[in-house]
Amino acid sequence: MRVTVDLKKCTKSGECYYNHPALFRVDAEGFPVVRVDPLDDEDLRVEARQAAEVCPVEAITVGE
Ligand code: SF4
Repeated sequence: MRVTVDLKKCTKSGECYYNHPALFRVDAEGFPVVRVDPLDDEDLRVEARQAAEVCPVEAITVGE
């Protein structure tokens, strides 16, 4: 399972990297960068789904 971010949709609101620092970091321009790929830990998979639900512009996708 993987989490991806569509940077064309991302508005740099920061919910993903502030709430899920184990999964995302922020780059110098304020965009999120996925830290873990693939998601080999169930806790991180749960976090990824939560991040996808909370992202205000639905830029985060969790899939195979
Ligand atoms: S929560 Fe969504 S819009 Fe906000 S920084 Fe993360 S990917 Fe971008």
